[in-house]
Amino acid sequence: MSARILDGKALAERVRAEVRAGVDAFRAQYGRVPGLDVVLVGEDPGSVVYTRNKEKASNEVGMRGRLHALAASTPEEQLVEMVRGLNADPLVDGILVQLPLPKPIDSAKILDLIDVAKDVDGFHPVNAGLLALGRPGGLVACTPAGCMRLIALSGTALERANAVVVGRSNTVGKPMAQLLLSANATVTVAHSRTRDLARVCRGADVLVAAVGRAQMIRGDWIKPSAVVLDVGQNRVVPPEGKAKMVGDVAFDEAKEVAGFITPVPGGVGPMTIAMLLVNTLEAAKRRARSQPRA
Ligand code: NDP
Repeated sequence: MSARILDGKALAERVRAEVRAGVDAFRAQYGRVPGLDVVLVGEDPGSVVYTRNKEKASNEVGMRGRLHALAASTPEEQLVEMVRGLNADPLVDGILVQLPLPKPIDSAKILDLIDVAKDVDGFHPVNAGLLALGRPGGLVACTPAGCMRLIALSGTALERANAVVVGRSNTVGKPMAQLLLSANATVTVAHSRTRDLARVCRGADVLVAAVGRAQMIRGDWIKPSAVVLDVGQNRVVPPEGKAKMVGDVAFDEAKEVAGFITPVPGGVGPMTIAMLLVNTLEAAKRRARSQPRA
């Protein structure tokens, strides 16, 4: 049997079209467009590509997207000042500081500084806390939010399902587990100290891999007909040939067992950017509603 592919690129295109319409309506109502400011510190090749893509995607849906590229040697105090300035700027609705930040910058200090209402990555402790408490009104981390849309696309009911999230980062694994729990799945979070990971994965009706290890999850770790979401983005260089991006799941093996699976590239990645646009539009609407018109 071959799994059905969950096409994140096509779904992201539909989400982006909805955001575009939302931006038009926002402009008509408030006389300005939502603003997304992306801050990049240093020249990590992956981060350079991701931040450019985010800036481009926001402009393509009619937002005012800006990329602030700072040198890796930028002192922490300068970054603090930049975030404070963006917090105070009424035309900025969303602020995203690309991670990882170069040492010795204290990432937690910078993330904590971002105005909660503009925290479109959903990484601020207040937004993470609202999600953990199962309370509405926060901004939800983009990658897990995108995964939830992809699970919905598969038509899989999460209530009573066994979900396994491999990875417990604050940015992907933990918020993913919270969302699945809120949807009434029974959730297991696995990590580097988990005993017999293959067995844990085999129990998953829904398996989310967010590890950062190329093709670690093999076909025989997958429960027949499971829904498999592959968050991993690992750059590998085959002995012959050029570098390519692969996921945390051995796709060719897994697709023979799973019911649904996301490809890499073209699965979770495009949905992450689409959900960033959703969050930015939502942040802009909330801010506009709570402020007197300019
Ligand atoms: P982190 O490095 O922050 O977290 C990785 C997690 O995987 C940790 O919890 C770690 O466990 C766990 N882990 C590592 N090795 C193993 C192992 N051998 N067995 C079981 N668990 C293990 O990564 P991120 O969460 O930031 O990202 C994960 C992947 O997703 C990366 O490939 C990243 O590039 C990708 N990514 C993709 C996005 C997209 O849009 N598609 C967005 C964000 C990330 P422990 O906590 O015990 O160390």
